[in-house]
Amino acid sequence: MALTLRACSGARRIVHANRASAPAPASTVPGMDHDTDHAPDHVLTDDDVLIACRATSATDLAAHDPRTTFGWDKDVAKDRFDDVIADVDHLQQRLYAEGERAVLMVLQGIDAGGKGGTIRSVMNQLNPSGVSVHGFGVPSEEERAHDFLWRIHAHTPEAGTIAVFDRSHYEDVLVVRVKGLAPEPVWRRRYEHIRNFERLLDDEGTTVVKFFLNVSRDEQRERLQDRIDDPEERWKFRKGDLDDRALWDEYQTAFEAALRETSTDAAPWYVVPGDRKWVRNLVVALALRHHLTAIGPEYPPAEDDIAGLVVE
Ligand code: ATP
Repeated sequence: MALTLRACSGARRIVHANRASAPAPASTVPGMDHDTDHAPDHVLTDDDVLIACRATSATDLAAHDPRTTFGWDKDVAKDRFDDVIADVDHLQQRLYAEGERAVLMVLQGIDAGGKGGTIRSVMNQLNPSGVSVHGFGVPSEEERAHDFLWRIHAHTPEAGTIAVFDRSHYEDVLVVRVKGLAPEPVWRRRYEHIRNFERLLDDEGTTVVKFFLNVSRDEQRERLQDRIDDPEERWKFRKGDLDDRALWDEYQTAFEAALRETSTDAAPWYVVPGDRKWVRNLVVALALRHHLTAIGPEYPPAEDDIAGLVVE
């Protein structure tokens, strides 16, 4: 099924070209269509959407609308998600069979930003044998006794698999920065450590793809209120979420700095519009498919002389 993506007027500015395996980024996304009933004036390709979401050293979060739909129709986008995730599933099967390369998918966002929902929606469609999910909470005493990447490296994916990080080493330049858990010279030099670490992973065969789930302040308020009001959701709410919400601007600054400092060709960030879950899911699926396609995993050769073999 062909994907029709629509955008309203407004030129996208391409800042610099990247290698073929990742779409070139745009520094800002002015004029994106925010409403599904807005008349389109040109068609976006899958790459256009990924370019619009790609973070750069000049990323301005204020220019990324969390509510944008890229002009997609909801029902069409949901069908489209099923098709794209089926492709991802197929590529994952090849990755697993090949057993040579791996993918690390990093999810970051504010509380109620949709990390859990993204994992459930996107990863649910894949073969569990080839996927691992790891959440990173407040470091344990043992973890704190090591460098900040020690606990992270232990959970990077083995060859043939996709690992998903629900929070990650980025907490060490986010919550640590916002709450002053380490002096500035310490968290500031971590950007370079992170770039080098992710370069190492890429060099050794692990493709790193990072998603910042960009949710608006209003949407977070609604989701947190739902968590308080709904007995089935209440377990997810911590009073500390409200303390973090009060630091909204500080977190936005820290997220923006992390995106600017660490969105590299080896490990790009995507700013995913997060207010509408169906948009979020499709963007994440498109990016996963894009990077898996760039990896191009191949089935290993079959054993010799099995063509024409008959099983009795
Ligand atoms: P979530 O909000 O992701 O669903 P949660 O509320 O269930 O998580 P945990 O997953 O146990 O809680 O821990 C998440 C918390 O751990 C977040 O508040 C996060 O900021 C904090 N955290 C993660 N990494 C670090 C770190 N390196 N230093 C300090 N705090 C961290």
